[in-house]
Amino acid sequence: MTTATTTEAIYDNLSRLLSTTVPDFELRLKAELASEINRLKVEKNAVILGHNYMEPALFYSIPDYVGDSLELSRKAAQSNKDIIVFCGVKFMAETAKILNPTRKVLVPSEKAGCSLAASITAEDVRELKAQFPGVPVVTYINTYADVKAESDICCTSGNAVAVVNSLNTDKVIFIPDEYLAANVARETGKQIIYPTKDPKQRFRNDLNYQMIGWPGRCEVHEKFTVEDIANVRKQFPDVVILAHPECSPEVVAASDFSGSTTAMIKFVEKTNAPHYLMLTECSMGDNVAAANPDKEMLRLCSIRCPHMNQITLEDTLEALQKEQFEIVIDEEIRRRAYNAVERMLHIG
Ligand code: SF4
Repeated sequence: MTTATTTEAIYDNLSRLLSTTVPDFELRLKAELASEINRLKVEKNAVILGHNYMEPALFYSIPDYVGDSLELSRKAAQSNKDIIVFCGVKFMAETAKILNPTRKVLVPSEKAGCSLAASITAEDVRELKAQFPGVPVVTYINTYADVKAESDICCTSGNAVAVVNSLNTDKVIFIPDEYLAANVARETGKQIIYPTKDPKQRFRNDLNYQMIGWPGRCEVHEKFTVEDIANVRKQFPDVVILAHPECSPEVVAASDFSGSTTAMIKFVEKTNAPHYLMLTECSMGDNVAAANPDKEMLRLCSIRCPHMNQITLEDTLEALQKEQFEIVIDEEIRRRAYNAVERMLHIG
């Protein structure tokens, strides 16, 4: 993406893409903020990464690169800028730091957490490894660095099946997303169990299982239900429904396509359905709708990620001005986390 620096050029672009959904006065205000951010970005030799879940005005004005968290971290690794500003949540900025240890990595809001990343600690992983000795740990990229550091390999929603298959073992610990694990188990034909944190309810080891999951969930994707899908299909029988694999297995089974944010975007670009509905964070639906004005995207979504929502143009400007909030990771943890991420990168 190339980013404009003049307010007028930014306003014209935002107006072309978003004038049907965002009031004009808001677009003007946001264009002014974006102009100042883009000016400062050049002055400070910074690169801005924008996750697919960023609100449309930010998404289409300041990022040098947009995409999912891993794509963005890879882009950051290829750039030679001094500062990386990650417009996404903290675990994403951490991944950028894991891959780019010599750069200053900033996340615009300290409050940009994640229910999934917060569902598991490094101590939880150590306990799982003690309970299931020798079983390799596959960790979803939506986790913090200390959890990645305890893992054998990371995965994304796009490559989870390939990563699990690459291990060629009888059993796999797959953490922390309960639904992604169940969707991967279904696709790979594996039986899954979920141990609890309560030592009194430890899972019986004599059961037949090949995957060990963890009860973590994305607070956005867990909200979509099979009833939602049935209601939409009643109203729009020809709708094509796309579900993120962090949705429940029942929702994924009732949808027409399931894939990562990037896979969903490509699916819409390459197909021609009468209507599309994306079961994922609302802003992404808005961003895809703006980029594909010839496609009919149903706007029935009211679910925003409260953590992604913390990232605003105002906070991004302040982050660049004050060079806050910097991601700092203990070098030993970073190095071990890097090994888990790097091993995944070899798989794709
Ligand atoms: S959308 Fe879900 S997984 Fe992504 S940051 Fe928000 S809570 Fe976490």
